[in-house]
Amino acid sequence: SRSTANSTSTAATSAARAFCSSSTTPITATLFPGDGIGPEIAESVKKVFTTAGVPINWEEHYVSTEIDPRTQSFLTWESLESVRRNKVGLKGPMATPIGKGHRSLNLTLRKELNLYANVRPCYSLPGYKTRYDDVNLITIRENTEGEYSGLEHQVVRGVVESLKIITRQASLRVAEYAFHYAKTHGRERVSAIHKANIMQKTDGLFLKCCREVAEKYPEITYEEVVIDNCCMMLVKNPALFDVLVMPNLYGDIISDLCAGLVGGLGLTPSCNIGEDGVALAEAVHGSAPDIAGKNLANPTALLLSGVMMLRHLKMNEQAEQIHSAIINTIAEGKYRTADLGGSSTTTDFTKAICDHL
Ligand code: NAD
Repeated sequence: SRSTANSTSTAATSAARAFCSSSTTPITATLFPGDGIGPEIAESVKKVFTTAGVPINWEEHYVSTEIDPRTQSFLTWESLESVRRNKVGLKGPMATPIGKGHRSLNLTLRKELNLYANVRPCYSLPGYKTRYDDVNLITIRENTEGEYSGLEHQVVRGVVESLKIITRQASLRVAEYAFHYAKTHGRERVSAIHKANIMQKTDGLFLKCCREVAEKYPEITYEEVVIDNCCMMLVKNPALFDVLVMPNLYGDIISDLCAGLVGGLGLTPSCNIGEDGVALAEAVHGSAPDIAGKNLANPTALLLSGVMMLRHLKMNEQAEQIHSAIINTIAEGKYRTADLGGSSTTTDFTKAICDHL
């Protein structure tokens, strides 16, 4: 049977115990608290991790107020070096002022750290009722190109052009990651999401690469679904899908749609995977300027991203402990933030999770 994002094998748990008991020195991880609600939810993660006794030292980096010429963005070179050195990190949301002419912080991170795949598990939380109680999907988004290549210009007055780049190398890389993920996580099906009927060259190449990789994994069922039909099918019956792999823009949109199936952006985590062994976990949501600084944000998505980071580090015991505390707090229903219909503050909800550890 396919594994849920929160299940671990006995072998993995014993490996985690061995890892944790043998590691005397704590692991250093980079932490970007980020913008808007970022610092509030990052504080929540630090509190929960400390209470759970997770042996992690956070190396904190904030978004700068000036552009660093070495990164051409408000992200400092030192912060990128920190992730390269530590190979693991957790990132809060970063705001991107619209049309201000500088490089997006998220794009800078993805490009500079070569974070080629974004993995977004989306599953029904036991105890939190939504329309479906059997959602268990993984969206895997190509993270470096497509419409997000940052190549936009004015052709003539009143006409602008934005280039969509699809390369064989990046498509094969993300397809390989998706099939390998499916195989190693007991998943049975990979669906490539596309619009190759219209975008024949770009999405056509993406599909060609997925087909090539699919041939190496005969045990995994492979299918191709057009993006618009995929949206309809997801809303009607999410159980039709298992692992979905897709180009950048489609992944951005579909993963938010999936978040809506299980209770919203406050609940869905993700992890960015880099070629050099780097893993940078982050919540799917943005900086939520409408509720920033009001102690109203739901820290669950960033906490679950932290749990993904712990699993990546093979700290499965602590990951399970924190995961259960979050699920149990939400299921109990006494403390929930406003996005889940409750009236708890971020700090009260965080305290309740700590009490469940
Ligand atoms: P958003 O995700 O910030 O907010 C959308 C809605 O969801 C808002 O109503 C917000 O209050 C709510 N919401 C989001 N996270 C929540 C949480 N943890 N708890 C409770 N409610 C939550 O999207 P947006 O408003 O389109 O974007 C705001 C800024 O964030 C923009 O500058 C955008 O570029 C940036 N952004 C960053 C990332 C990232 O860093 N990965 C992702 C998406 C958007």
